[in-house]
Amino acid sequence: MRCIESSMKVIETIGEMRSFRQRLTEPVGFVPTMGFLHEGHLSLVRQAKVGNPSVVVSIFVNPTQFGLREDFSRYPRNPERDLALLEKEGTDIVFMPSAADMYPDRFDSWVEVGGLSERLEGAARPGHFRGVTTVVAKLFNIIQPTRAYFGQKDAQQAIVIKKMVTDLNMNVEVVTLPTVRESDGLAMSSRNTYLSLKERQAAVVLYQALSLAQELWSQGETDAGKLRRQMVDLIRREPLATIDYVSIANAETLDKLDRVQPPTLVSLAVKIDRTRLIDNVVLG
Ligand code: AMP
Repeated sequence: MRCIESSMKVIETIGEMRSFRQRLTEPVGFVPTMGFLHEGHLSLVRQAKVGNPSVVVSIFVNPTQFGLREDFSRYPRNPERDLALLEKEGTDIVFMPSAADMYPDRFDSWVEVGGLSERLEGAARPGHFRGVTTVVAKLFNIIQPTRAYFGQKDAQQAIVIKKMVTDLNMNVEVVTLPTVRESDGLAMSSRNTYLSLKERQAAVVLYQALSLAQELWSQGETDAGKLRRQMVDLIRREPLATIDYVSIANAETLDKLDRVQPPTLVSLAVKIDRTRLIDNVVLG
């Protein structure tokens, strides 16, 4: 265990986390992250602080949620900066386990949410949600939080985790909080750091497409096909952008919709050159 300043504890093993957990004042708020923190992450920490006398933040770049050809090895990392930010927010515990501790040799038990996990991000990134639900279930077991905080930025992730908690009777309240954006609307993401200046300017097209859907819907357009087509047309005008998917779906079941019926999740994944970004809005 390392201590920086007076009160924030940095814990690097599951064993230490378990024993320290018993000393925490209830209720315990928990924010799982992969680090390289930005204001989106910090908004979750702040909300956890408001509702709970103890706040645990985990930093773990989870290998099992990355596909073989994805960016696990180059995913941005800056633990020292992360710790300084979390210390400023008054975090009680930062849990930073090693991959070897979380996934020892012969580890082979998985948590899988059917159906929901196969759509959208799950279809584009096979196995992704199996990795997410497995690591979140492990973290819930280790930390035993009262409440866990997730960002709307990863809308499907929050939906899948809520389903896992319900289906498996986990004793955790899952809270979803709004997406924090840059001043031009781009959703904050650790992966934005991959973008060159030109790509960063092009990346605003995701938010522009979502804003267009919101605007058309507020003007009375409920034909999902028309909304989708206008979004696709707008994104195609950006030369650096390649569409992975643009989806208009029920915000709970993720079933594709022909007509917008609140709550509708409008979500997209777009590659800006080689950087894959996701974003969404909820209509209604
Ligand atoms: P990550 O480190 O990308 O795994 O994200 C950790 C948590 O922060 C997840 O619950 C994300 O949904 C959330 N998050 C990431 N970006 C944002 C954002 N721009 N606004 C709000 N929450 C976010």
